[in-house]
Amino acid sequence: MTHRVPGMEEHRYQESAQPSPEGVADFHDSFKNLLVEFEVPEAERSPELAARIESLEATYKDLLTELGIDASQRTPPTAKLAVYGEKDWNAVAEAQGLEGRRCQGIAILQSGQILVSQGATADETARKLAHEMAHVLAPRTWEASLDDKGMIEEAGIKRAGFEGGPRRAFKYFNELVTETIAIEVSRRDAVRRGQDGAEVLIGGYTDGVVFLDHLLAAAGKKLGRKPRELRTGLFRGYFEGDMASLRFIEDAFGAGALKILAELRESGGKDWFVLSEAAQKIGLDDTAYFYQITIAADAGVYRLNDGTKLVRPTDGRRSSRI
Ligand SMILES: [Zn+2]
Repeated sequence: MTHRVPGMEEHRYQESAQPSPEGVADFHDSFKNLLVEFEVPEAERSPELAARIESLEATYKDLLTELGIDASQRTPPTAKLAVYGEKDWNAVAEAQGLEGRRCQGIAILQSGQILVSQGATADETARKLAHEMAHVLAPRTWEASLDDKGMIEEAGIKRAGFEGGPRRAFKYFNELVTETIAIEVSRRDAVRRGQDGAEVLIGGYTDGVVFLDHLLAAAGKKLGRKPRELRTGLFRGYFEGDMASLRFIEDAFGAGALKILAELRESGGKDWFVLSEAAQKIGLDDTAYFYQITIAADAGVYRLNDGTKLVRPTDGRRSSRI
């Protein structure tokens, strides 16, 4: 049973009982506080930043439409978006419990807000926004348990994009898809703004992005399908919250492959090691992956199979995203 609360995403209640109107209002109120806390007036955005945000939003709208998704049914990510200078960002990171994690951006899935630290250049800021925007455009399903009066006792996000369930399955994999979408959107956004889009700044999760790219190429070969077509299906599944769109991975690599991907987690600077192991387990050529990632790390330039070049941002900082 699903139930919509104005201003919130789709809600799915665990119990078969209907939540009471008071229960829903109470639930909504408790999240309103979270929205107010970080609200930043539109006027504080520089004209340059406002133009970049507008362009990114238009690029996302085009992508969703191309995937057959009605973009007007999604909350525009710019409505609840804030960019902070370094000093303010430290306070935000601390308030969100992220200090010391080198985290440069966050999508608060409960409220649909995006908070990022300002990059050294407008390109770097836009690059961070591209990642977080994908998170809030993906559907989020809520789950709540009700008491005997139909009041909501406990509520939380059950699924966001591909990530979900009690053990937060596909948490890392979901980030790899998010970042791959952000790369494609950044490339298209550059073209929209009159550039060639051949180079995209490195965001986070690069070892994983290269892994996913490698996996799509190998799956395409095994299934006799174009990797680009598989990638499009993956993007559509992400924005529709459709787990069945991952089925092609088991079609290509056999039963159990999805379980291995579901259990992947970020591991500091050693993601490539964990991913090489995962590649071995699912029968993906880990030597090729290892070679690709080593050469790329040495050169500081990662090249995806579609020719997109990922290059380091000017300040060279490594950053992680949530
Ligand atoms: Zn993320």
